[in-house]
Formats: sequence, structure tokens, C-alpha cells
Amino acid sequence: MAHRVFNFSAGPSTLPLSVLEQVQAELLDYRGTGMSIMESSHRSPEYDAVNESAIALTREVLGLPDDFHILFLTGGASQQFAMIPMNFLKQGGVGSYVDTGTWSSKAIKECQGIGETHVAFAGKGGDYAHIPTDDELDVPEGAEYLHITTNNTIKGTQFHHTPNVKVPLIADMSSDIGSMRRDYSAYSMLYAGAQKNLGPAGVTLVAMRDELLQKSNDELPTVLNYKTPAGKKSLYNTPPSFPIYVVNLVLQWIKDQGGLKAVERVNQQKKDLVYGMIDEHPEFFRGTAEKDSRSWMNLTLRLPDEAMEKRFIAEAKAEGLGGLKGHRSVGGIRVSLYNAMPLAGAEAVCHFMKQFMAKG
Ligand code: PMP
Repeated sequence: MAHRVFNFSAGPSTLPLSVLEQVQAELLDYRGTGMSIMESSHRSPEYDAVNESAIALTREVLGLPDDFHILFLTGGASQQFAMIPMNFLKQGGVGSYVDTGTWSSKAIKECQGIGETHVAFAGKGGDYAHIPTDDELDVPEGAEYLHITTNNTIKGTQFHHTPNVKVPLIADMSSDIGSMRRDYSAYSMLYAGAQKNLGPAGVTLVAMRDELLQKSNDELPTVLNYKTPAGKKSLYNTPPSFPIYVVNLVLQWIKDQGGLKAVERVNQQKKDLVYGMIDEHPEFFRGTAEKDSRSWMNLTLRLPDEAMEKRFIAEAKAEGLGGLKGHRSVGGIRVSLYNAMPLAGAEAVCHFMKQFMAKG
């Protein structure tokens, strides 16, 4: 048996053990082909079946209607920050953004380089601890879209509602896609780097309604126009076939768990345990997000001082609890509890927190 730790890293992050075992078992001889799927042509029938299955499972697991195109792209979520305004910000139009953290700010910056950009909510003044209600949003009438980041991976906040707006809603769901039931169909577009809840780094899932796709800017270079991959099932050029193969297995794993309802239940139990520990000991642990805005995926907290945080991270690592260091831009502790983290991982981190606190 390989030695496995509980990996609380924010991404790339832990994957379901059964998926890794299947990858391992199929690595040298993929279903009788005598080669790995990563060595297969992306035009082979074997890869075509993987691609078709990944598209169908994305639709099924997230509950996306038929008019959504499902694309597997490269360039990370960061490339989407640029592709969205390039494709959808018409001359004279406005791109509207909710700024709830570093990743939202990066999306805003890309838009500013392309056209008129409006910030519908600015969270920086509140140290990004708060997720706005609909009343707090100022969305210009006729904006081309409103862009939100459903989960702020760094500051540990999350939308627990879908903004009700009159313009197309676009969401960066990189760090909470498929972790809870949401009305995914309420969005015109959603996207996510795979490396947290869906699989390994290297592929970005993009889903968008046909109505939005048809608005893509046809003056763009071929590879930057969404219509290019959409018209070719993401096979215009060589896709990241191996990451897509793993994404397909992870989606199947979600389905086998009982779908989003079941993973949501476990995610709720995990976050209740860890936030419970934080809230029971406010003299020692300080959650950084407002309670109503707390993320279920990235739980951020501070200890009484930085030296203690450093020791906490090192001692946890020695006990097989890795990746607990907060993002380098903010410090502190971050406990990432993505889908593949079992309940036992959340229990283990709580046990460690209690022990550490007792030692002081
Ligand atoms: N958006 C969010 C919410 C993220 O957490 C990240 C990465 N941590 C990104 C975007 C950037 O993703 P990528 O590295 O795939 O470009």
C-alpha cells in the first residue's frame, strides 16, 4: 500500500483514491489497446469515447440543459479571464464584475485591457470577507454580462445563492464546481480549472449556452473564438487528453457517490466539523470570512500569532496533514475540503487542532 497523506492543498489538490487506482491500473494497457490513453491519438475511437463520456457526464452531474455547449480548453481559468471579454464585450458594451477577491480582480484587469469595465460590487474595502446580496449589486442596465467568482479560494468566501440579475450571468467556479447542488442552468456560462474538484491541472471546463456562444466575436483568431472548439467537440486541435480522461473518471465517481446531493452532504458535514472547532474556540482560532459568506471548500483561519501558525503547519505536516498553509498573499491557515477529501480528513484536522490548542 502506498503511503497517502491527507492533502488539504488548495489546488492542484487531492483526487479520489479509487480514481487514482483506476488510472494506475489502466496506465500501461488502456482497455486492451496495449497503450496508455495518453499515448493514443486524440482521433482514436478510444479517446472519442472518453471525450463523449466526459461531455455527457458533465451535463448529467451538473444538470445542464441541452442548449449548453461543454468545452474542454487549455490555458487555465486565467485564460478565460481574457477570452470572456474578447468574445463577448462588443464595442460600446460594458462588462460588469463582482470583485470578491484576487481571482475576480484578475478577471477585471483583463477586461479593462479590452473594453469598458464596470465593478458591480467592490469587496476589497471589506478585506474580501463578505459576499454581496443582490441588493448590494450595482449592475448597469444592458451590460453584456455579469461575472462572479462563486468561491474565493484565497479568502475563503463563497456565494450560497445565485444572483438574480437581468443580464447574462458568467461564473468562475474553479474552486467549487460540482461540490454542491446549484441551479447551474441559471448561468449563461460557467468555467473551472479542473485542478480542484474535477481532476488534474491542464484542462479547463467551460460550459455555455448556445445563445451566448452565438455572440462570440468572429474577428478573433480562430483558437480564441469559442465557436471553434464548440463546433468540433473540443477537438479542433490536440486537447489535453489525459487530464480529460481523469476528469471523466472523477465525474463518474461523483455520480457513483450519488451525485451532487450526496457529495454536498459530505461536504456539509466536513465544513461543519472544522467551522465548529473554530467557533467553539474563538480565543484561539479566528475565522477570516463573515459567517454567512463562509466557503465550504476553503476554510481560512488565523491563530494567535504567525510563529504559532508556522508551527501548526509544520507539526500538522509531520502528522500526515499536508497543504494547510494559507495562500502566500494572505498567510494564515487554509483547510481545503474539496469533494475528494474524505470525512476522516476533516476529523483528523479537527483532532489535530484540538491537540495543538491544548499544547498552546
Ligand atoms: N479562479 C479561481 C477561483 C482560482 O482559485 C484559480 C486558481 N487557484 C484561478 C481562477 C486560476 O486558475 P488557473 O491557474 O487554472 O488559471
